[in-house]
Amino acid sequence: MSDLDLFFDPTRCFIGGNWVVPNGQQTLPIENPSTGETVGAIARGTADDIDHAVRAAQAALNGEWGRMPAAERGRLLARIGHMVLERADQLARIEAIDVGKPLKQAKADALALARYLEFYGGACDKIHGETIPYQDGYTVYTLRQPHGVTAHIIPWNYPMQIIGRSVVGALAMGNAAVLKPAEEACLTAIAFAKICDEAGLPKGALNVVPGLGEEAGAALTSHPGVHHISFTGSVGVGQLIQEAAARNVVPVTLELGGKSPQLVFADADLDRALPFLVNAGIQNAGQTCSASSRILVHRSVHDEVLARMAERYRALRVGPALDDLEVGPLVSARQKHIVSSFLDHLDGAKIAARGQLADGIPAGGHYLAPALVSHVVPSNALAQDEIFGPVQVVIPFDDEADAIRIANGTDFGLVAGVWTADGGRQMRLAKAIRSGQVFINNYGAGGGVELPFGGIGKSGHGREKGFEALYGFSVLKTVAAWHG
Ligand code: ADP
Repeated sequence: MSDLDLFFDPTRCFIGGNWVVPNGQQTLPIENPSTGETVGAIARGTADDIDHAVRAAQAALNGEWGRMPAAERGRLLARIGHMVLERADQLARIEAIDVGKPLKQAKADALALARYLEFYGGACDKIHGETIPYQDGYTVYTLRQPHGVTAHIIPWNYPMQIIGRSVVGALAMGNAAVLKPAEEACLTAIAFAKICDEAGLPKGALNVVPGLGEEAGAALTSHPGVHHISFTGSVGVGQLIQEAAARNVVPVTLELGGKSPQLVFADADLDRALPFLVNAGIQNAGQTCSASSRILVHRSVHDEVLARMAERYRALRVGPALDDLEVGPLVSARQKHIVSSFLDHLDGAKIAARGQLADGIPAGGHYLAPALVSHVVPSNALAQDEIFGPVQVVIPFDDEADAIRIANGTDFGLVAGVWTADGGRQMRLAKAIRSGQVFINNYGAGGGVELPFGGIGKSGHGREKGFEALYGFSVLKTVAAWHG
């Protein structure tokens, strides 16, 4: 379809600075979720391609990339950031067609990728070791060195943002990266490789091998030449990846999603809270790890909050990504089926409101009207499982202790929001809620690039984003020199 205006060949892998046909010479179809049509093809990388990519990354570490001074690395990342900014509209359009994400949201992702490149470009030469006072006759210091070859398995929901927080962070510390994007949405990952190539990134510093999870993905995570794995995706695949990492005894960062709550107390500024409450559930059609899918509300304001959220839901329009309405389609027929099944099993819960499908939407698109659900008991699957679609549940609580109990009552712990004017309560809840981030009187779905991000429990472990990520993407070495 002519809508896809690419500046690269998506049927090739980027390995060792070359654009290569995958070993099996096979491709996978690209589906436009807004229409259900096949709009092109991407490379189907094999285990052989992964092996070449890992070797190319190792060669880069032994060559120009491994010798590049940190300041120069930073300048290069900043240059790539400028090039991403210049192409932001084009990248946004490609992402909108590939993922089904409304254009403005896709543009925000492109701008976030540019921000990561600026931020980590600036950080490259600001991470360093320390000297340690020790016994007489010794000088002791620490070095922060790259792991070596880092593997990055990313999902389809925010390719550009996750490349930014994962791949760019690893490159900033001087690692050489092998990226396996998701089969549902590879295009901006390949576009990123093309931009890095044009910017003069040394050969092999970044390698991109599109392909299937169980084929290229599994080959990458089990490869003995990989020294660190960063994965964002489902809990089930995260478990497989942690097992693969254990076999090779390499560190792994897992970001596996959540069931993130926002807690609304009676003294909350509802006019401020309302847009955050709803947007955090429907952004990217709810296909967001840090989506806020549970709204916990003090009983005294429960009906008011539910009514005001319902009013906003009824005004939400769902349509093709390029029409740029509030909500686009889900990424695939499979995803729509998964989300619809939750709504088919309400178990006593009630649909309080739904958004509207726009007139004339293509019949083959994977559209689903956002659903606001009330009368949900906290043990219901709707309140426990990650739905990964535009569905939010509203649950009443009686007091602070009850709110904390419900907030912490799932297997996940990624992000939480607290809405209250009471400063003491803000501090108590920030400590008591089990999650990697807590937002007070705002909600950031992960927040800006500066904010460390990651989970506890089944949401995963390790931190990406912010300066903190750079410690994870490097190894601390202690050097103890005796000189008498
Ligand atoms: P989702 O269910 O949202 O598609 P997944 O966890 O299945 O999320 O996929 C996230 C990423 O993990 C994708 O890039 C996918 O190809 C990859 N993946 C899936 N299965 C495996 C596996 N067995 N080993 C390595 N990567 C995998």
